[in-house]
Amino acid sequence: MSSKRLPQHFPVELSIVIPLLNEAESLPELTRWIHRVLTQHGLTYEVLLIDDGSTDDSWEVIEDLAQDDVHLRGIRFNRNYGKSAALDTGFRAAQGRVVCTMDADLQDSPEELPELYRMITQDGYDLVSGWKKKRFDPISKTIPTKLFNGVTRWLSGIQLHDFNCGLKAYNHRVVKAVEVYGEMHRYIPVIAKWAGFRKIGEKVVQHQERKYGTTKFGLERFVYGFLDLLSITFVSRFRKRPMHFFGTVGTLSFLVGMLITLWLVGEKLYLAAHNLKARSVTDQPLFFLALVAVIVGVQVFVAGFLAEMVSLSGSRKNQYLIREKLNLS
Ligand code: UDP
Ligand code: MG
Repeated sequence: MSSKRLPQHFPVELSIVIPLLNEAESLPELTRWIHRVLTQHGLTYEVLLIDDGSTDDSWEVIEDLAQDDVHLRGIRFNRNYGKSAALDTGFRAAQGRVVCTMDADLQDSPEELPELYRMITQDGYDLVSGWKKKRFDPISKTIPTKLFNGVTRWLSGIQLHDFNCGLKAYNHRVVKAVEVYGEMHRYIPVIAKWAGFRKIGEKVVQHQERKYGTTKFGLERFVYGFLDLLSITFVSRFRKRPMHFFGTVGTLSFLVGMLITLWLVGEKLYLAAHNLKARSVTDQPLFFLALVAVIVGVQVFVAGFLAEMVSLSGSRKNQYLIREKLNLS
């Protein structure tokens, strides 16, 4: 690059965003551990604890901890919105040059943070995803996870082993550019890639068994996860131009239906003109197929128009009601 850019100023080098739901027991140990590792490495940092509507005393614990730790900042949702919502809100509030996410349950190790920071700032990665090569999860989770990762790799073309790892690091530009909602936290690398951040890396990370509490996701995660993948694949391709999809499919279906109908009518006329015996057009199964194709074609086409209008009105999806904030304006 020839023109010299002014260095951008960041209040801290590293922001750690931690979504949490009922993790009161883990928080003291987690924040102490983060503090120890990052001060050893001389990194300036902030920890953003996003309380996703906990019903235990997680928020009280956060308030207590924040009294003697200036690095801690907190946001408390009014109710449970989900991990994606918590991450998205943390991303908006993060001030660091690098933003890392990690789970609150001590399954991810803070020891990985300095190396992740280095990979973003020195190796120039936009995003580095943790890879729990050796997992400490029940088999009911590890096998579906393999399948899920395979499908996501294939659909997205991103060669990651472990899309859903909670431990990830981002260049700040990435987190300010992407919007995460629904259950999309599993696909942030996919969203980032489609937003134009192509340098995506991977780092093998340590994984521990959950020390306190229980998992917050059941098996339905795989069903929702798969549906979400379909919607991001679709939305990222056609969000700005839904008519390209609906218009094409609708027109094709309509044309196929029309051609079959014309064929049937033509055949009938031909046979009648030659005084041959002909079946009535409506007596033939093919006619009903043609009819369905025409109707479906028109419907899909109209759906395309509606989608165009919706995408024009394009409001931001993420309006979460925040109940309280700590050390945040
Ligand atoms: N989590 C959250 N909101 C939710 C569900 C989970 O903030 O609705 C947090 C949870 O507290 C933890 C992280 O997301 O910090 C990962 O959840 P969990 O450990 O239950 O998932 P697993 O490790 O079983 O995939
Ligand atoms: Mg966990």
